[in-house]
Amino acid sequence: MNWFEALNSEITECRRCPRLVEWREKVASEKRRAFENELYWGRPVPCFGDPQGTRLIVGLAPAAHGANRTGRMFTGDRSGDWLYRALHRAGIANQARSVSVNDGLEVCDAVIAAVCHCAPPDNKPTPSEISNCSDYLARLLRHRTWRSILCLGLISWNQVHRELGSKAPKFAHGAESQVDPMRLIASYHPSQQNTFTGRLTEEMLDAVVKAWASA
Ligand code: SF4
Repeated sequence: MNWFEALNSEITECRRCPRLVEWREKVASEKRRAFENELYWGRPVPCFGDPQGTRLIVGLAPAAHGANRTGRMFTGDRSGDWLYRALHRAGIANQARSVSVNDGLEVCDAVIAAVCHCAPPDNKPTPSEISNCSDYLARLLRHRTWRSILCLGLISWNQVHRELGSKAPKFAHGAESQVDPMRLIASYHPSQQNTFTGRLTEEMLDAVVKAWASA
């Protein structure tokens, strides 16, 4: 088992946050009508990507009926549609489609992780849940010298800097910081509240993905 598999194996067995354990399992058992014939994952969602990768993306947390259903980061929901389309346009993902763990999706030279590996109610993990999960992020950050890190959303931006022992500059879409030798880039999270409202457009996401991919 390599370091990536070992970390993921530990993550997927984790039950540190009682509220999230209850929520992820409740969602998996009750399901959404559109997915009532599917077997939900209902567990912590592991990091996804290329264990040799030098670029990292850190999201917030799995969506209840997205990654909590499919078991793969940003898979099976609108946020993932946006993210993987952008990664495909940038040449990082081999396809734009991300619907299940068996859909053939691969990413090159990149790992996709999250601040919190379990789906939280209302997509809002509590500070103590983020703190519980920070050990996995810290180990991921320490395990290799990442060339570039794309932080999706304010919480990711702040938490990644915290784990690197660096003060986060003010969050803004396209903000950058250097924590030598890593280049950190901020993006609005591709959640529906940003993409439906036009706060985040595909052109804006492409611009930060391009900056991240070319670092
Ligand atoms: S959020 Fe993280 S720390 Fe909490 S139960 Fe899930 S994997 Fe464990």
